[in-house]
Amino acid sequence: MMERFDHYMARANAAYYAEKNPFADFVTAPEISQVFGELLGGWAKIVWDMMGVQAKILVEAGPGRGVMMADMLRVCGPAEVHFIETSPRLREEQGKHVQGAKWHDTLADVPERPMILIANEFLDALPVRQFVRREAGWMERYVEAGGYVEVPAEEKLPGDPIGSVREVNEAAAAFVREVARRGGIGLFIDYGPEKSAAGESVQAIRDGKYADPLAEPGTADITAHVDFAALARAAHAQGPVKQNAFLTALGLFQRTDFLAERNPKNAEKLRLAARRLTAPEAMGSLFKVMAVCPEGFPTLPGFEGWRA
Ligand code: SAH
Repeated sequence: MMERFDHYMARANAAYYAEKNPFADFVTAPEISQVFGELLGGWAKIVWDMMGVQAKILVEAGPGRGVMMADMLRVCGPAEVHFIETSPRLREEQGKHVQGAKWHDTLADVPERPMILIANEFLDALPVRQFVRREAGWMERYVEAGGYVEVPAEEKLPGDPIGSVREVNEAAAAFVREVARRGGIGLFIDYGPEKSAAGESVQAIRDGKYADPLAEPGTADITAHVDFAALARAAHAQGPVKQNAFLTALGLFQRTDFLAERNPKNAEKLRLAARRLTAPEAMGSLFKVMAVCPEGFPTLPGFEGWRA
């Protein structure tokens, strides 16, 4: 059976997140330091004030183990928490860290009220379509019997050189568009370039190592770089800014020092974590932060250095 690549990726990732422990394969920012979630909690508190809402509604897409939300809530105070999560295993784990949350399979199921939505390393797991430029024009990649098959594409794509690959993330664009349609504010943290670029970014990680995305679907985490420029065309946004600029503006180093002084045994670990989140050769510059917000909304915390 021939399957379009994005359909294949969606199916493989659903099986992977349902069956496997992703944190055996990769480490994410909230798992590196509690300060990450704490800063986002402070961010949410300020943004609720800016929105002028009474009811504090916090939605997280792809919450992993739920530790980021737990860290956030310690700083922003009680909120109505909604998790968008398809994996039953991870839902159970999230319930251990956050009490009273409600779970949903998709954003469409979340009640329509003014909300702050946050997502760390969620969009990168959503399926992308892949196109390859051939002599005769653009072809779309399908998967059949563990290999790629190419079918002429109907989509209009840029005039890239022959052999170029383009990825289109329709699911991610639809997601941010829905946040915008609801008048919510969405904060997305993920890895990807500032400007749309040609090239293949799909990768698979199995047992902590790079693997063939087409081999043994469901045993590897398949991700693609997030095309932030495309998302900014899909919905009004501030950013992207680099993760190190964002976290530094929110006070990452001050908060780290504060905790380190009170907890000298953990000081070295906290300082290393702050460096890992901000160093350009680690997570500081490949990771970007972008906020979807209504047009004309004042500059959000952490985006002061950004110019459209
Ligand atoms: N935000 C967490 C986890 C990132 S892993 C962290 O930073 O540690 C990706 C998360 O997104 C997992 O919780 C996974 O189950 C969830 N996820 C992936 N695809 C999804 C989809 N299509 N719908 C809902 N959740 C999804």
